[in-house]
Amino acid sequence: MKTKLHILYGGKSAEHQVSLQTALAVTKALDMDKYEVYPLYITDTGEWRRGGLLNGPAESVHQLKLEDGGETIAPLALSSGEDVAEASPVIFPLLHGPNGEDGTVQGMLELLNLPYVGNGVLASSAGMDKVIMKNLFAQAGLPQVGYVHFLRSEWEKAAEATYVKVEEDLGYPCFVKPANLGSSVGISKAKNREELANSFREAFEYDRKIIVEQGLDGAREIEIGVLGNDEPECSVVGEIAPKTEFYDYKAKYEDGDTAMIIPAEIDGETYAKVKEMAITAFKSIDGAGLVRADFFLTKEGELYINEVNTMPGFTPYSMFPLLWQHTDVSYPELIEKLVGYAKERHEEKQ
Ligand code: ATP
Ligand code: MG
Ligand code: MG
Ligand code: MG
Repeated sequence: MKTKLHILYGGKSAEHQVSLQTALAVTKALDMDKYEVYPLYITDTGEWRRGGLLNGPAESVHQLKLEDGGETIAPLALSSGEDVAEASPVIFPLLHGPNGEDGTVQGMLELLNLPYVGNGVLASSAGMDKVIMKNLFAQAGLPQVGYVHFLRSEWEKAAEATYVKVEEDLGYPCFVKPANLGSSVGISKAKNREELANSFREAFEYDRKIIVEQGLDGAREIEIGVLGNDEPECSVVGEIAPKTEFYDYKAKYEDGDTAMIIPAEIDGETYAKVKEMAITAFKSIDGAGLVRADFFLTKEGELYINEVNTMPGFTPYSMFPLLWQHTDVSYPELIEKLVGYAKERHEEKQ
């Protein structure tokens, strides 16, 4: 019997377009002899639209917007309707950022008792909040740079005190980030008090909570893919070499001249350490399905974990699928594995 798969994409986030491109690539990679694929689109205003069975790969992003033929549904009605009654579909969220990658959609799918690809509620929300994530990493004994965090209300009451704390605890340069975001949105590097104040203002535009981290100068950026449930596996290790001062939004989505080096040219000992730390990080947030773990490797050879991303970029040209391709797991195989892990996790819960 074919597996029913609802691909869930779009969303009310800055990464709407990226998500559409991902959905297009996923429909192209899916073997329609194995899957019955239904599109499920969240518009940029947050409306949910369900389309009919796809007979073949989607031809265009336009088609995926379901402007003709799709029906508007209430998200909680997802598990109603005859097609769902016979065999429950697997939901494949291809969403990034708040309301997609942060546990909210996952929580709704839990309530509906539907199997879904990727991380559960806890891992998604812990992975989205950089402060909580780093606290969990610290508890798991993972080496990371120093960090402090502030709430907007604290800063509004006593800005000077927040800056002094950063200077005393971390010094310059430091990185200021909204606690709950991705794609480098709202992140800046500060080298002095004036830049620090500007960075705070910028980051607080996006979140009520920010994290400030000790900045590493000239560190290499190492990334690895993790795949699985209770016994996760690692991909080969890759390196990102941005041409800019750091890997900012523009370098990620606009310039396109950031080098991806797979496999990374690092020594065997470091290579093994990256894998071990990635697995520890995955387990520390109670991960499921997949994560991409990001590291810094300093000139002195010290390895620090930066973060995990619970729904990493997933176009065929994104780092996570490329890392797996170099590990002999093709894009279609990767999708198949993820659907398998989703079913496995769902069965465990029944
Ligand atoms: P994404 O989810 O797209 O990977 P993000 O928004 O979660 O990104 P980070 O990965 O934390 O953000 O940071 C973005 C980039 O900023 C890093 O890839 C790196 O280039 C730079 N950076 C972040 N923190 C530090 C740090 N402490 N020291 C040096 N560089 C940093
Ligand atoms: Mg991230
Ligand atoms: Mg992200
Ligand atoms: Mg990152």
